[in-house]
Amino acid sequence: MKNKNKKISPDIICHRNVISKIFNTIGTKPAETGGILLGPLNKNEISDFYFDNDGQCSKATYTPDYAKLTHLLKTEWADEGIEMKGVVHSHPNRFDRLSGGDLTYIERLLKCNPRDDFFIAPIVIPEEFRLIPWMVLRGQYNNPVIADLTII
Ligand SMILES: [Zn+2]
Repeated sequence: MKNKNKKISPDIICHRNVISKIFNTIGTKPAETGGILLGPLNKNEISDFYFDNDGQCSKATYTPDYAKLTHLLKTEWADEGIEMKGVVHSHPNRFDRLSGGDLTYIERLLKCNPRDDFFIAPIVIPEEFRLIPWMVLRGQYNNPVIADLTII
């Protein structure tokens, strides 16, 4: 039976220190900078944030430092039972949605990781000290939703 009120976005738990780390790094720099959201394997939980100091920033896009991040994901973080939960990056000029380029990038990531049902991709607007917790669900690549974040 179909339930019209079925929630479309899964509940995500986010540790408070993650939010502080984001605002203390991305939030203090001009757009576009970014970093990686990390959490325990197979849980809808964000427990840490890694600021991607070496990501490429231009006025149009943030491109993660793939080589370094892939290495960390396969070594240090894998040993700790930590996996990537998403990417957070900043946008200029109050542009608080994911761009077409962002959505293409996320679609590619989800298609490469068939295990994941969604990808968390918050946008930070440094000049407004604001974070919008976007997430993209598998198969709905052009319709990002706002994640249901519980801060603990
Ligand atoms: Zn973007």
